[in-house]
Amino acid sequence: MPHTTNNPAKRTWLSVPENSDFPIQNIPFGVFLTRDDIITIGTRIGDYAIDLGALHQLGYFEGIPLTDDIFLQDSLNDFISDGKKTWRLVRNRISDIFDSNNKDLQENEEHKKIVLFSLEEIEMQLPVQIGDYTDFYSSKEHATNVGSMFRDPDKALLPNWLHIPVGYHGRSSTIVPSGTPIRRPMGQTMPKGADTPVFGPSKRVDFELEMAFITTDANVLGEPVPIEEAEDYIFGMVLFNDWSARDIQKWEYVPLGPFLAKNFASTISPWIVTMDALEPYRVDSPKQDPTPLPYLQQTGQHSFDIHLEVAIAPEDTIPTTVSRSNFKYMYWTMAQQLTHHTINGCKINSGDLLGSGTISGPTPESYGSMLELAWQGTKPVALQDGSKRVFIEDNDTVIMKGYCQKEGVRIGFGEVSTKLLPTFKNKS
Ligand code: CA
Repeated sequence: MPHTTNNPAKRTWLSVPENSDFPIQNIPFGVFLTRDDIITIGTRIGDYAIDLGALHQLGYFEGIPLTDDIFLQDSLNDFISDGKKTWRLVRNRISDIFDSNNKDLQENEEHKKIVLFSLEEIEMQLPVQIGDYTDFYSSKEHATNVGSMFRDPDKALLPNWLHIPVGYHGRSSTIVPSGTPIRRPMGQTMPKGADTPVFGPSKRVDFELEMAFITTDANVLGEPVPIEEAEDYIFGMVLFNDWSARDIQKWEYVPLGPFLAKNFASTISPWIVTMDALEPYRVDSPKQDPTPLPYLQQTGQHSFDIHLEVAIAPEDTIPTTVSRSNFKYMYWTMAQQLTHHTINGCKINSGDLLGSGTISGPTPESYGSMLELAWQGTKPVALQDGSKRVFIEDNDTVIMKGYCQKEGVRIGFGEVSTKLLPTFKNKS
């Protein structure tokens, strides 16, 4: 069914800038505030934001079983709960409404005024009310690099890593949309050579280049999701910057894992790109050796060829790209992550967000964190303004982008951009 919507030959009557991440083949979903300060669910084609609430009220989704207020909400959770069949019907209908051969909305000036917004007129919000957030650690290169730095290069991967998609439960309350500035966290660290910890601003604030997927209601408590069905419960993907404070992390993570080093902020790109839109970009994932246990075994292609890049822009300067990676380097697939997550009967709900873990590639230019790019501070990264970075400095903006490209069609995620502000200080 998604076939016609993904057709590379399809054209829209809206103007789409060359190299836009949002051609008519994309049709992502998001939530925005309109110029009239009304919150609505929408999509994007080129540089137009499209009000799906208004389109629905005007009757453009006739024949699709949707409640009247499904798009007049401040999150996509209910729409995502409607399931894959409904997502496809809606996405195909949007594709049809904006197809250059369809005159209905194209020639209705009054309706166009109600439905179409320029990007300047809107403010993107978090697309889902995130109930639970889990972060994995599924890039072999990243796990190997971190293991080499913090433990032993010869035993970089811990014994469980090749058998389990390792993960931890994060905190959803601090996930914010692109554009929201964050603050350098305060915390407790143990300086090198010291024998008592100190308290102060983190000196090692880092980004983590990740992607995340958003689920629909997948199971009931106690019932695992079989690996063959797992992809049916994934609505779509976003870019994800999982901010980390390496010095706090190093002191606190033993024995229970990440805590305050990880939960001060994580940032997502605001448009959720559906798995249907990503379908043409399936590729093999890395060969898994040893073969995983049967409940994690898959056949076919379950990774996606998504180019990723990270840039750092110090205040008032142009960004410098510091990393180029690809989602296809992930060792564990999203389906394996979701199945493993539920194998004990853990319940997954609509709007849950599951992060990939830092996506590092095989070469030093493709590492997904400053920890790795500057190799624990030993190899400073040069920026175009002449300055150097080993971690992120106050007032730097970190920008992540991602896109797929094939047969002249580019399906992108836009960007996730976050400015790091100095530590919060009480006014006294
Ligand atoms: Ca992470």
